[in-house]
Amino acid sequence: MEHAQGQRAATEAGHGGLTVLAGPTAVGKGTVSTYIRDTYPEVWLSVSATTRAPREGEVDGVHYYFVGPTEFERLVAEGAFLEWAVVHGQNRYGTLRRTVQEAIAAGKHVLLEIDLQGARQVKAAMPDAQFVFLAPPSWDEMVRRLRGRGTETAEEQQRRLETAKIELAAEPEFDVTVVNDDVKRAADELVSLMGLTPHARPASR
Ligand code: 5GP
Repeated sequence: MEHAQGQRAATEAGHGGLTVLAGPTAVGKGTVSTYIRDTYPEVWLSVSATTRAPREGEVDGVHYYFVGPTEFERLVAEGAFLEWAVVHGQNRYGTLRRTVQEAIAAGKHVLLEIDLQGARQVKAAMPDAQFVFLAPPSWDEMVRRLRGRGTETAEEQQRRLETAKIELAAEPEFDVTVVNDDVKRAADELVSLMGLTPHARPASR
């Protein structure tokens, strides 16, 4: 059967076309995935469901599916999640199984940006996927980024740093580490690992 170029590339890249990006929260996973969303339409970036309230500028169905706790429970009970987790002891986040499976089946280059607990669940379910650990250039830089972000309270920042310390120790569980010293460089390295060719941001975006 004839395959489109992208489909063939996804298959040739191995890992069943699925890449999982995880790492400590304050490392800038969100920034890297935002860059990829804006620059690489050829990457199919999974949109998670979450019980967290939207931040300013976040759009339902683009950044997350924002759902209430009851709706989230219903999705859990239905088995709708490939993985899900309570992150920072607070809100629930989950990857919708069906949309991811359909994207993989369609030969897309699928990327999940999830927390470590979720990455472990995906590894148990889909061990052939590629697991990429996004690491900070240094601990001090990570603290600086988290404090500078200013979207969380001091208490929340402290909680996230404690989680980050534990998460940093998980690096050896991953296939490869990408250091987030620069967002564009890290994103380009990630898309290369996905079997795609890095390029500049399209002018229209
Ligand atoms: P934020 O609230 O800053 O958008 O994300 C908080 C954390 O939740 C990040 O570490 C992010 O990777 C993680 N996260 C986002 N979506 C999912 C998901 O579907 N599953 C899991 N396990 N974690 C997620």
